Amino acid sequence: MNYYSLHHKSPNTTFKNAVVQGLAKDRGIYFPENITPLSKEFIENIENYTNHEIAYEAIKQFVGDEIPTSILKEIIEKTVSFDFPLVTIDENIASLELFHGPTMAFKDVGAKFMAQCLEYFNQGNEEEVTVLVATSGDTGGAVANGFLGAKGVNVVILYPSGKVSDIQEKQLTTLGQNITALEVDGVFDDCQEMVKTAFLDEEITKKLTSANSINIARWLPQMFYFFFAYKALKSKNKELVFSVPSGNFGNICAGIMAQKLGLPIKHFVAATNVNDTVPNFLVDGVYTPKPSKATISNAMDVGNPSNFIRIRELFNNDLETLKSAFSSYSFTDDETRETMKKIYDNSGYVADPHGAVGYLGLKKYGLKENEFGVFLETAHPVKFLDVVEETLPVKVEIPEQIQKVINNKKVAIKASSYKDLKAYLMK
Ligand SMILES: *Cc1c(COP(=O)(O)O)cnc(C)c1O
Repeated sequence: MNYYSLHHKSPNTTFKNAVVQGLAKDRGIYFPENITPLSKEFIENIENYTNHEIAYEAIKQFVGDEIPTSILKEIIEKTVSFDFPLVTIDENIASLELFHGPTMAFKDVGAKFMAQCLEYFNQGNEEEVTVLVATSGDTGGAVANGFLGAKGVNVVILYPSGKVSDIQEKQLTTLGQNITALEVDGVFDDCQEMVKTAFLDEEITKKLTSANSINIARWLPQMFYFFFAYKALKSKNKELVFSVPSGNFGNICAGIMAQKLGLPIKHFVAATNVNDTVPNFLVDGVYTPKPSKATISNAMDVGNPSNFIRIRELFNNDLETLKSAFSSYSFTDDETRETMKKIYDNSGYVADPHGAVGYLGLKKYGLKENEFGVFLETAHPVKFLDVVEETLPVKVEIPEQIQKVINNKKVAIKASSYKDLKAYLMK
């Protein structure tokens, strides 16, 4: 499969190049040349397929013949190695829990898939690839874990000192091997700026790539969640509405891709916190990116969502068609906290702040008689322990995955400016 740059100023390229480069030379993100719907027969009989088979069917056309079938199947087995349970909250609403992976963030799936693809493509090359990633919390842990031990791949994670939770810090600083953590004296934006500077620095001769959701290998496997949920809910015979707590809009964009592949989904709701660039766009068709604002659902504090351009492409850049299948609503921290309480009081379910924003999206949309709503629960409550325990009368149990890293020793290199990152990369 070939991919084109959404800035339309770079030549089309292969799956392999798109994965290895991350971004096109014209700084545009990549989009597949073709999207061919899966057979009706497959969708109608989806309950007869295993999750591994479904994931393979969903992704195979996007990889094409660039990874042999047997290896792609192995990659999928390593990626889809945990459950994605649906928990019913109300009569017509369920939570799709995406947090049962190794770092308890939904980004585990994309990170693992991308790591495996990169390892495959770099096989036999003398030169190692260096993955540079800036994180405000969740991405770093998922990337560290997903890439751990990948041969020929080095990972450098930049995180803002004192601005990620203790658990998140342990997840990205204790693994060792091919994972290096740089503890940056600054905020997330400083980390991101350092990464961008490194990509443009011609004195750095190392092969660099990025591991955020602009990379097609991190973005596309997120389609799997929607197929798995459809399989589980098909027998209800209801029309499905998905609400996705959104920051960079990679996850929801993958859902729309699944719909393009023929999955019967009635409507999508992109639920955001007060970082409301997309909800505003839907009102007047003017896209105005803004600096991000800090909220309690901080994995979605994004003022200029990088995947939204892919969503517009999926609807041929037509606002009216987009609006018929897609809504987007913004919610405040107060509304989020109130909703966490309401969900807990009504059902005993402990939602993290991101999941609660997703739930609010369904409420605002207003489900009809024949519709069933699914919100994506993107993080385990333990990842946002402070907010959850302040808001709800609960004590969150620390799951085994987290227990394992919590007592390990943090190892990080201090960095106060780009000079320090450069010195590390030039070593
Ligand atoms: C990354 C993240 C999101 C946002 O996902 P996007 O694909 O960037 O929209 C939501 N919730 C959590 C917990 C996350 O880590």
